[in-house]
Amino acid sequence: MSRSILIVGGGPAGLAAAHALARVGQPSVLIDKAARLGGAPILSGYAKLVPSGEWAKDAIGGMVQRVEQDQLVEVHTGTSVTRLDGSAGDFTAELADGRRVPAGAAILCTGFTHFDSLNKPEWGFGTFPDVVTTTQVEQMISSGKGVRCPSDGRKPQRVAILLCVGSRDRQIGREWCSKVCCTVSANLAMEIREELPECHVYIYYMDIRTFGLYETKYYWRSQEEFKIKYIKARIAEVTSDGSKLIVKGEDTLVKRPVTIPFDLVVHAIGMDPNVDNKAIAAAFGVALESHGYLARGNAYGNTAETSRAGVFVAGAAAGPETIDDSIAQGHAAAMTALAQVLPARVSA
Ligand SMILES: Cc1cc2nc3c(=O)[nH]c(=O)nc-3n(C[C@H](O)[C@H](O)[C@H](O)COP(=O)(O)OP(=O)(O)OC[C@H]3O[C@@H](n4cnc5c(N)ncnc54)[C@H](O)[C@@H]3O)c2cc1C
Ligand code: SF4
Repeated sequence: MSRSILIVGGGPAGLAAAHALARVGQPSVLIDKAARLGGAPILSGYAKLVPSGEWAKDAIGGMVQRVEQDQLVEVHTGTSVTRLDGSAGDFTAELADGRRVPAGAAILCTGFTHFDSLNKPEWGFGTFPDVVTTTQVEQMISSGKGVRCPSDGRKPQRVAILLCVGSRDRQIGREWCSKVCCTVSANLAMEIREELPECHVYIYYMDIRTFGLYETKYYWRSQEEFKIKYIKARIAEVTSDGSKLIVKGEDTLVKRPVTIPFDLVVHAIGMDPNVDNKAIAAAFGVALESHGYLARGNAYGNTAETSRAGVFVAGAAAGPETIDDSIAQGHAAAMTALAQVLPARVSA
């Protein structure tokens, strides 16, 4: 009987790792601190995913179901790992609920934390109820209630989506690009226009990073087919005149002030390092990189390595990441971890 592989975090990356291991007959133990599996797309109630257009509850929910029904995956939710003793091939993890789990290798798939828009007070979140985040709009759509102004439930006639909230912002210590929010915002803008064809939707941006093939499918399509208006701007503040929200800033293409009233303002929030990362680094004896994500040990030879032998990392735990890349990294980490336990299987 081979030694189990410990997987911490049951989002897209961890679910992919558990499934990949089960497919080759390798048992794993999957731990998640949340009460249910699925990671951010399930826990935060995302709507239709980029780029597949599938509902998160179906696409990621299907991954959850597949893992929960697999006898080779032992799932423990509502707990976390407090320490990892031993060395590669022969670890023992201690869980917060007192259980001890032997493991040949460990894969950290602990993901990210959504940026808290209260850290950007000049853009109105926390002051005005109709300033919301992309996750709140995702929830409005996925719950079937539709996009509404939280203050009084009315259908917005004008919506502004502000990009790079909590990303690419040195003033608040967040230099990184969160990679997916330009594309997610273009997608949400189109979903708003589909539901509310009379609504005008504006996207305020510094740069547009609909990377790779997403340029055609999201950036150009959102403008040409859905008439989304893009404004390259530096935003100064979001205020209110009593009935409308007012977005004030400078149009950086024409170098003129621009002040436009809106019913709903949406912060396209970024992906912070997981708030648990210091505790995770201490429990697993792994290093963090300079922004606070889990550090990768090796960029090319063995992409899933951390600074500790036998402990691997996948997905947004190591930096802002998309779902499909998190899944691919989960598979890659599973195969590297498998190689770690294989000699033990051969000699057993
Ligand atoms: C608003 C928004 C919309 C997005 N929409 C899309 C999209 O449409 N398409 C796309 O490709 N990407 C999208 N993303 C990015 C997507 O959320 C990530 O790519 C994806 O969630 C990363 O998966 P993961 O498994 O690495 O991490 P996560 O999804 O963050 O999962 C991590 C898991 O680990 C658990 N965990 C955390 N800490 C611990 C701990 N200490 N102990 C035990 N368990 C722990 C968590 O409970 C969670 O279940 C979006 C991001 C945002 C902010
Ligand atoms: S993906 Fe776009 S919105 Fe997100 S941080 Fe990068 S540039 Fe800003």
